[in-house]
Amino acid sequence: MTNPFERFGVNTIVNAYGPLTRLGGSLLPPKVASAMQEASRYCVDMTALQSAASVTIAKHTGAEAGYVTSGAAAGLLLGTAACVTGLDVGKMNRLPDTRGMKNEVVVAKSQRNFYDHAVRTAGVVLVEVGIPDRYSGAGVRDAEPWEFSEAISENTAAVYYVAAPQSQPDLEDVIKVAHAKGVPVLVDAAGRVPPAANLRTYIDKGADLVVFSGGKGIRGPQASGILCGRRDLVMAAALQHLDHDIHFEQFSPPGNLIDKTKIPGLPHHGIGRPCKVGKEEIVGLLTALELFIEEDPDLHYKNHLGVAQDIEKHLQNIRNVTVQLKAGGGMHPLPSIELQLDEAAAGITTRQLVTELQNGAPSIHADPTHVGDRKISFRTACLKDGEPELIGQKIRKILG
Ligand SMILES: *Cc1c(COP(=O)(O)O)cnc(C)c1O
Repeated sequence: MTNPFERFGVNTIVNAYGPLTRLGGSLLPPKVASAMQEASRYCVDMTALQSAASVTIAKHTGAEAGYVTSGAAAGLLLGTAACVTGLDVGKMNRLPDTRGMKNEVVVAKSQRNFYDHAVRTAGVVLVEVGIPDRYSGAGVRDAEPWEFSEAISENTAAVYYVAAPQSQPDLEDVIKVAHAKGVPVLVDAAGRVPPAANLRTYIDKGADLVVFSGGKGIRGPQASGILCGRRDLVMAAALQHLDHDIHFEQFSPPGNLIDKTKIPGLPHHGIGRPCKVGKEEIVGLLTALELFIEEDPDLHYKNHLGVAQDIEKHLQNIRNVTVQLKAGGGMHPLPSIELQLDEAAAGITTRQLVTELQNGAPSIHADPTHVGDRKISFRTACLKDGEPELIGQKIRKILG
């Protein structure tokens, strides 16, 4: 097979970090890639396709309905828009101008993150609650459920919650206080799969909408994601995403996704229209989702353990370096290799080493999260055959 990037003069990289957007996402399983190629040979009614996607996503998440987005961030925008407008078509047309609408979204200050720009893109303001005292070292507390309750007002469109191992308060408690005030909860679970069981976890806990990335652990197309949850909210999201250049009389959506009797007419192209999803992405995401569900997680882990051990082997007997195999867990379920550098003896900082690895050919990208502790992690999710050896060779060359 030829490498199309070469034709355009772009060097590919050794990705020992993971399915990061910045590094081109995941490696598609061949079955996903071929499903996308097959899909590219046909035209299809996109509303009908999203309705079918809804059935498949509902089956695997336990949600009432589902929708394929162009990523988790697009799901946050669409989900927020759905919470603001409900099924009010006039409101849909006015976004992102939210004057006269519920236009506040409540979030724990400790859960603010760069992706919440996608929530704000719908035209809402974030109302932060709590002080993340535990992160400063000054104390032990974070936002508490009563603070969410207090922050909710007649202007609250939704509560936004980022699912992560360190997130506080517990999602169940946030849902309880939000639902007591009739406010939906939107959960960002972009990177929380695997484990596959997490496709259901947040819906089971009562979340109204949940978003996942398609291009991370699910190994679907890079520009894909899932929005799932309450049928009325998914319908509101679909109406603000699908292309509507059609007379209302011609519009015959399957009722499981869009109940035409609930709207007086079609909205204009909505706030989500710039986050278009192609038929290839939808078919690719659904195919990847099914493969992901069928996959034996123990076997998958074992395969990646083999890759990690291969990296470990190629990093043996390099001066000023100790290497440790990490079993994985929490945010990183797969095994990885952690390299610890003796900076003084090596005469190079860990930050310099990680940068040197990126420079020249092949450019190797590793996880630099802990360079401050003189550690670099090599992760296996996106590595190909032969690349563990390239990693060993390059580190040996840099460290002499
Ligand atoms: C990756 C990520 C996103 C964005 O996901 P995309 O699928 O790239 O849009 C959003 N939120 C969190 C917490 C993420 O990790």
